[in-house]
Amino acid sequence: MLTLGHDEITRYPFLTDAGQYLKDKGFSLSQFGTDPVLKISVEKAFNRIVVATEGKVYNSDLIDGQASKPHVIELEVFSFLLAIVLIKLSGMSTLVKRFALAEARRAESYLKEDLGKASSQSEIDLIKKIIFELSGIEVNKKDDFFTIHVSDYLKQSATFHEREWKLINRHVENGKVFLNSEKIIRLLRKEIGVYISSKINKAPVPEMIPGLETEVKNLISIAKKFTPIFVTTGEYPPCIKHAINVLEKGENLPHSGRFMLATFLLSKGQSVEQIAPLFKNAPDYNERVTLYQLNNLAGNSGSGTQYTCPSCQKLTTQNLCFATSECDNIINPLQFGRKRKYERN
Ligand code: SF4
Repeated sequence: MLTLGHDEITRYPFLTDAGQYLKDKGFSLSQFGTDPVLKISVEKAFNRIVVATEGKVYNSDLIDGQASKPHVIELEVFSFLLAIVLIKLSGMSTLVKRFALAEARRAESYLKEDLGKASSQSEIDLIKKIIFELSGIEVNKKDDFFTIHVSDYLKQSATFHEREWKLINRHVENGKVFLNSEKIIRLLRKEIGVYISSKINKAPVPEMIPGLETEVKNLISIAKKFTPIFVTTGEYPPCIKHAINVLEKGENLPHSGRFMLATFLLSKGQSVEQIAPLFKNAPDYNERVTLYQLNNLAGNSGSGTQYTCPSCQKLTTQNLCFATSECDNIINPLQFGRKRKYERN
């Protein structure tokens, strides 16, 4: 664990050991639900999450990025730690993503600043350690630039398509890429977000804290606005319509097509008895064999395994895919017709 100064703790609160920090300050989580003085931290934490859900970066009480008074440090760190507690209590995973992204953007601006202005060896060492903790990437200072290993650069810039990020357009020396502080931190943006989300995901879910119920309830209703609700049109995908059509005309549907049709309909909740008549017109129809096979696919006999509908990719290789624009890049026919809707205010 890194040893951080006051300013670093407030700028990068996710690097603290939350439980230990509270303990060191002589507080327990339950106090935040009842103590009117501590309740300010809860309000701040709630606001910190709301701001994140609006796609904005939380505006802290730091002056020029520094915590001038001890109570400011505590408020900053408590509000971050309590925000995680509130998110965990709400159980809404959509909040984790949005909160982590906003906090990563906040940290990013501080990292850029800290890296740019670090001049003494101890300042450089500390920021290097912070970056390593966040990303596992070693950064070194060389004159007015920072260097990272070519392999790290290539990995981090793999999704950057602008010309300026191509290795050929960068200064490289002895296997190291030279960058300014802004570019280095831009490269690490994703890692910072991943670090914060994984820290939140790994945090234990506490018991409900008396006094925080209203905040948690309000967060749940805020999060629901971002949670997609899937509605289905109920229409069958083209591959399934085609298979039914083939059977209705009394033509032969290959075994793979029968497997697709049966597993699709079983997954949609139809019973073996409802599906069996579909195969009546097949040239080789045998009621006993059909029921036996359907029961097997449904997991009612044999190994007890219920088979699932093959993926669109597999069905394409079997010449069973008859995609239209409505398929909309789905990966399994079971997803056909699902539309995302968001709850309105
Ligand atoms: S894309 Fe998928 S759902 Fe659409 S027709 Fe092909 S296999 Fe069926």
